Amino acid sequence: MSDSFDLIVIGAGPGGYVAAIKAAQLGMSVACVERQYLGGTCLNVGCIPSKALLDSSERYATAKHGLSDRGIKIDNVELDLPAMMKFKEKVVGQLTGGVGFLFKKNKITHLEGHGKIAGPGKVEVEGKTYSAKNILIATGSEPIEIPGFKFDGKHILSSTEALEIGELPEKLLIVGGGYIGVEIGSVWNRLGAHVSVLEFMDRILPASDAECAKALQKSLTKQGLEFHFGVKAKSATVKGDKVEVVYEPKDGGDATTITVDKVMVAVGRKPYTDKLGLDSVGVTPTDRGFITVDEHYKATDGVYAIGDVIGKIMLAHNAEEEGIAAVEHIHGGAGHVNYGTCPAVVYTHPELASVGLTQEEATDKFGKDGIKIGKFNLAANGRARGMGETEGFVKVIGDAKTDRLLGCHIVAAHASDMIAEAVTAMEFASSCEDLARVFHAHPTLPEAIKEAAMAASDGKAIHA
Ligand code: FAD
Ligand code: NAD
Repeated sequence: MSDSFDLIVIGAGPGGYVAAIKAAQLGMSVACVERQYLGGTCLNVGCIPSKALLDSSERYATAKHGLSDRGIKIDNVELDLPAMMKFKEKVVGQLTGGVGFLFKKNKITHLEGHGKIAGPGKVEVEGKTYSAKNILIATGSEPIEIPGFKFDGKHILSSTEALEIGELPEKLLIVGGGYIGVEIGSVWNRLGAHVSVLEFMDRILPASDAECAKALQKSLTKQGLEFHFGVKAKSATVKGDKVEVVYEPKDGGDATTITVDKVMVAVGRKPYTDKLGLDSVGVTPTDRGFITVDEHYKATDGVYAIGDVIGKIMLAHNAEEEGIAAVEHIHGGAGHVNYGTCPAVVYTHPELASVGLTQEEATDKFGKDGIKIGKFNLAANGRARGMGETEGFVKVIGDAKTDRLLGCHIVAAHASDMIAEAVTAMEFASSCEDLARVFHAHPTLPEAIKEAAMAASDGKAIHA
């Protein structure tokens, strides 16, 4: 095996493994160092296992509660949690195996172990030093631990262990009403646990469009999730097989104590650069631990960084795009990421999918009269009616002066699939009218996007 490469990528998450494949496709000799698992957080303990459990738990909840009005009677629906977990593990195994296959196919050397930069152009793995013209750091992130809630893997969990609970907890408390809180909270709520969520802010998903987040919050509350807003989690104490959790209003006041079976803390993730040897190349992370890069993802000569570890947008598809752009730049091309069109999806039921500016951001930027809003309810969409999925709406935000599409936010079943159209439209600098004039097959859910675009464009949706 050669010990000299054009590019050594450290970390095989969606940022690192995609960058490695792209670099190999561009003709570079590539090694990718991975110390734990191919596919990183996303494939092993993030996007993929969570979505497998979200899908399985939704099917379970539908079978248990949701089909009699459709003329389908199912008796004795039972949960087989070990089988559900086995399916999730099978999916993860298939996809991580797929990364290994793609590495072989593209002649990428997989260096197993912890990678440490040992000076310019040098990476040390398991005591052996390899050289590279360029190094790409894609070491990702890890869950944030908060004071008083030390992860023990059994009672006080991070998202990783919350995706592996072997026995249905009666009561699960979640600290953090962000992406992970509402997704993993939905899984366990659907399977029958009582799920309560402590959130510091006054609503779930504080960075999302407020109207959409509130609509989703209402729906999740109806489904049984219990939210406590404006509170700060103070401590968790394991007592026998239970956990006693203390929380208090964030602005002061009396503390509350509740006893639950398990606690999951999901208050964000922090960059992972442990023992990475950054000092050997003169790179100093920010106070919060992120690696600072220029517009070409260069941290310093010969050293690039992408994905969660640079913290621009901590999403898998963003890590992939950054990895490709960085590698294209290294190869002499013009890689670029258009952050303004990066979609975000919350995979609850209904889903919340977004691209572009939220109504709050658009108002801040253009003023209240500088924007126009078109909304269309799924209840008026024929396909949604036929599917019994009438909850939610599409919101299209346009520039009042130019009609340019500024953002699209969807609360609906299958919003994750629907948002792709709005992403494409924004990438091609579409106007609201463009989107309103595009053919949409009938009956389909995306017709609701067309109608919302009509409403934004000239204030006249057809079916509203
Ligand atoms: P990571 O995926 O974290 O990969 C980094 C890799 O580097 C790891 O495999 C690690 O072992 C390795 N590594 C670190 N240091 C070293 C070293 N020194 N030597 C060798 N290897 C090293 N995003 C979405 O877009 N959609 C979702 O639905 C979604 N769901 C999520 C659900 C959960 C529960 C979680 C936790 C996250 C989710 N995310 C989702 C976020 C997504 O997983 C991350 O944004 C994404 O994985 C970041 O990719 P990355 O390549 O930057 O890093
Ligand atoms: P998050 O940033 O989405 O949410 C964290 C929440 O915790 C926020 O609402 C915040 O106000 C709250 N919070 C912070 N400190 C608190 C405290 N002490 N007490 C109570 N609440 C507190 O973070 P996350 O849910 O941990 O997810 C981490 C990241 O992983 C996300 O930001 C996202 O980038 C990624 N992710 C994406 C998806 C997806 O794309 N569907 C799913 C899961 C995770």
